[in-house]
Parts: sequence; structure tokens; C-alpha cells
Amino acid sequence: MRTSILDKYADIVGWDVIDQLHQLVAPLRDIKIVHVNSTRKGGGVAEILNKLVPLKRELGMNVSWEVVEGNDDFFKCTKSFHNGLQGDKVEIPRSLLDSYERVNEENADKLRGKLTDADIVVIHDPQPAPLLRFIPERKGKWIWRCHIDASHPDRFVWKYLRDFIVEYDASIFSLAAFAQPLPHTEFLIPPSIDPLSDKNIELDRKEIESTVSNLGIDTERPIMLQVSRFDRFKDPVGVIQAYRLTKKFVPSLQLVLAGGEATDDPESQAVLEDINIAANKDTDIHILVLPSDAHRTINALQRASDIVLQKSTREGFGLTVTEAMWKGKPVIGGDTGGIRIQVVNHRTGFLVNTPEGAALRARYLLFHRDKLMEMGSTAKKFVKENFLLTRHLREYLTVMVSIIHGEKDRIELD
Ligand code: UDP
Repeated sequence: MRTSILDKYADIVGWDVIDQLHQLVAPLRDIKIVHVNSTRKGGGVAEILNKLVPLKRELGMNVSWEVVEGNDDFFKCTKSFHNGLQGDKVEIPRSLLDSYERVNEENADKLRGKLTDADIVVIHDPQPAPLLRFIPERKGKWIWRCHIDASHPDRFVWKYLRDFIVEYDASIFSLAAFAQPLPHTEFLIPPSIDPLSDKNIELDRKEIESTVSNLGIDTERPIMLQVSRFDRFKDPVGVIQAYRLTKKFVPSLQLVLAGGEATDDPESQAVLEDINIAANKDTDIHILVLPSDAHRTINALQRASDIVLQKSTREGFGLTVTEAMWKGKPVIGGDTGGIRIQVVNHRTGFLVNTPEGAALRARYLLFHRDKLMEMGSTAKKFVKENFLLTRHLREYLTVMVSIIHGEKDRIELD
């Protein structure tokens, strides 16, 4: 089957890849799939589902996407889970855990009809993890998809969440390093970007320049960029330090910290205040609080930048790294989590552990433009081979085929 959208993907990845997706979809034709997460906007999970779900539909699959609704206590609790899974020592009062479970029970009541009948339910991250317990009459297979760097979780948080997760039929982690001992099959699938989305499509020079200059940024001077939610694990203050160290050698340098608010993140305001204090009214530091649909703006910023940082101290994957690499930029990234499988040190970018390290690499790239171009073009090729949506979907479909047809001796692919 050819459609205009599949034609466009084929232009980038080739028809073989699309044909293979059709083959994998064939044994899943009558299967009802539901994805559940906790926000439609903001952050990597929403970004992925916004692209993955429509592509599955384009291939003829019966797939829907539901979002659990929560209150302040619920999101306070799930933010602590997030921090705890990423290694912070956290203490969560029983009252917040009770809210978390109650909100899941209420959402289970709302979604019961859809979830009971589904053949496959994919629950993303900890927010909706207890839903399974509140749908005892479920018919299908349930998969827990963890997008977080859970390599060194806080023991209390993991012990608490594990009780819900052990009841799943399978789980998916982004990297081997994140997988935890669980009594079911675990799959490893790194995320991806959509090359046809507004965030990643080609833009012409005029649009890039007008977008960036309308934000008050000088397109004639070098730009250092980090795009991220305002989250401590993204180390925005470390980015400011790296910028200051680099600026000593490149006085015309400007820094852009572009973020926006994810509706499920109650800590972003406090982080934003820390950033403003660290920026100390430097007029060459541009702190942008963008709406969650500012995809073309982020695309333009990534294309206009000379240096792209993702100085995270913990990172589940870091879609922003792939996004910049797809635009031919080498990325200077924190030596952690998913950044390690994207940034091949010295080839597609540099892995760093400190603001000093980031500044050293930024300076090197600014003074060796030929190397910057060469690494950027290797980075783009690396993304094409490894981190586009079509590869991601192929792996999801393979997991689904194996879960639905795993007991058969033979699975017929069309
Ligand atoms: N993003 C965005 N607007 C912002 C900040 C981030 O659209 O203000 C996007 C970013 O381009 C990327 C995603 O949100 O696609 C963030 O994913 P990532 O894996 O980098 O981090 P997460 O937020 O999931 O920790």
C-alpha cells in the first residue's frame, strides 16, 4: 500500500524499509492497540507518540492514544518518581502515594471500556503504571515502556513502582543499562525522531534567519544552544557556566536556552528562576519560554546554531540530541544515559562531564569549522541509520508480533 505520507518516508529511508513495515503490520491487522501516557504536549514521550501513533494509523493499524488526567499532588508525586528513578534520593509522603493511586483508579474508571478490550496496552513511564491493577478484567497484553534513565534508581521508589510493574507482560527500556531485573521479557528500543515533522523538516535560510532574529538573536554572531524542559537534570546552570568560559575566547558568542513547560512538570518554574539568577541579566543570554507547539521555532534555532549542547547529568535518551544531529550539528552532550548511544565521542560530537569540558569542546569546534562540518555530516548519517521513526516503529511492531504470536511455531509475514 502506498500513500502520499508513506511516499515521503520512502524518499528518505527507501521503499525496502516501508515494505518491511507493511510485512510486520500484516499479522497485527485485527489487533487493537492503546498507548497511555500523562501529557499530550511537552517532553520526549509526547513528541514520540505524536508521530508514532499517526504513522501506525497510516499503515492501517487500529491504534489510539489516551492521556491520564492528574491533580497537583499526582504530578508532584510522579515528578519525585522521575527524580528518584534517575538516581536522586527522594522521600515521598504516603499521602502523595495515596493520591497517585487514587488518580490512577479514577482514570481506570474513565478508560475502562477502551483498556479492557485492547489487545495490547502500552503504558508509558510511571505516571499511569498502576492502571493495570485497576483493570483486573483486562483481556490483552500489557507492556510497560520506560523512557527514563532508570540505571541507578532510588531504592524506595523502585521497590514501590516495581510492585506495579511486575504484573505487566513485558517491559521496554531505551538502553540495556536502564533495564532492571523483572520477572517478564524485557525489550530494548531506543527512541527516534520524525524527519517529516515541523521540528525536523528542512527549512529555507530565509525562514531560519527571520525566526531567529525575531527572537532578538543576532544571526551574524555565533550561537550556542540548548533546547530542554527546565529541569535540573538538564543542567541549564552548567550550560551557562560553559558559555561564560567559551565567551572568554569568543566574545561575540550568544547563548540560547530554549524551553517550555510540560504540563506534568511542577518543578520547571523553580528551575527557571535559578537560570535567571545564573544569567545575571547578561543580554547575550536568551532564555526562551516557548509554547509547546513551537516546533518550527526550535527547528530554526537548531539549524541556526553553531554549537549545540545537551549537558544533561541524567538523560533517558535526549531527543534534542538526535534532532540537532539530523540538522548536521555535532552535539556536545553529557556523558550519560541515552546521549552515549547518540554521541560517538569525537565522531558525531563530544561527551563531557563538566562545564569546563563542554567549553573546551565548544571552543575547539568554533575554531575548527571544517571539523565541525565533518562531524556534523557524520552525525546526520548516524541518525539516518539509527534514530529515525521508521526504525523505531519496526522495533515496536516486532515486539508486538512476538507478544501476540509468541506461542506459535511459525509467524506468516505477508
Ligand atoms: N521540546 C520542545 N519545546 C521545548 C523543549 C523541548 O518542543 O521548549 C522538545 C524537544 O525538541 C524534544 C523533546 O521536547 O523533542 C524533549 O525530549 P528529550 O528526550 O530531549 O527530553 P525529555 O523532555 O523527554 O526529558
